[in-house]
Amino acid sequence: MEDIIRLLPDAVANQIAAGEVVQRPASVVKELLENAIDAGASAIQLIVKDAGKTLIQVVDNGRGMSFNDARLCFERHATSKLRNAGDLFRISTKGFRGEALASIAAIAHVELKTKPAADEMGTLVLIEGAEIKEHAPVTAPNGTSIAVKNLFFNVPARRNFLKSDKVELTHVEEELYRVALIHHDITFQYYNNGSLILMLPATNMRQRIVNIFGQHLNDKLFPVELNHELMRISGFIAKPENARKQKSEQFMFVNRRFVRHSLLNYAVEKAYAELIPQGSHPP
Ligand code: ADP
Ligand code: MG
Repeated sequence: MEDIIRLLPDAVANQIAAGEVVQRPASVVKELLENAIDAGASAIQLIVKDAGKTLIQVVDNGRGMSFNDARLCFERHATSKLRNAGDLFRISTKGFRGEALASIAAIAHVELKTKPAADEMGTLVLIEGAEIKEHAPVTAPNGTSIAVKNLFFNVPARRNFLKSDKVELTHVEEELYRVALIHHDITFQYYNNGSLILMLPATNMRQRIVNIFGQHLNDKLFPVELNHELMRISGFIAKPENARKQKSEQFMFVNRRFVRHSLLNYAVEKAYAELIPQGSHPP
């Protein structure tokens, strides 16, 4: 019979991959914040409009990208973080699959401006639905700014599936908290629809928790510290009387990555079992 198998064009493959990487605006926020951290930024701005449906922009003061890298970063499996399979066992960055920017560019209008401190000129890349519209030198501050506009403009089914702005914004903020809590040594500024919502100066973890969740938590936080030959655990837990009905103030991280794991949750619940009413959870 005739040959019928064909390789998918990159743009289609990226759009399919995007379905897995980008569920909603918050997924873009996570990927862009992680890239900024991997780039060594000490200050990061998150700017959203209409809960990220119209605009998600992350501006960092990290190492920036060269003229060629600024274009290459949108290719699938293009990464500076992994060179061989062995590297998989010593990953120290948040990303390594080189898929996020390719996926995001396949389903949005993306404007990248970037400049390494050592270079005189920066680079502008405009890309829409995986199609490069512009790639040119530009004056830019040190670091990287990526603006993602009109998310899912070419995937109406996904766009229609988004929840109300209120719900999507809750997801966006949750993603910001997850990153900002564990990177308290980085300054974050968060803007929504033109107003500054949250200003988080670089500080220690206790102060970062308070800056995010409110001063009322300050005297309720109890430090935890464990040094074991296999692991080190540190953080803050709340006193039993501050247990809440929701688990929304529980954040656990492994190697500075947010995780949810039933075994870890179980360990916490068990430690508090005799101290708090059933069905309540310690922050
Ligand atoms: P990954 O993070 O898995 O490598 P991404 O698609 O998120 O894949 O990014 C691709 C590459 O683009 C990164 O490996 C990095 O070299 C570069 N990059 C992305 N964002 C930034 C940034 N904010 N600053 C500097 N380089 C970046
Ligand atoms: Mg990444």
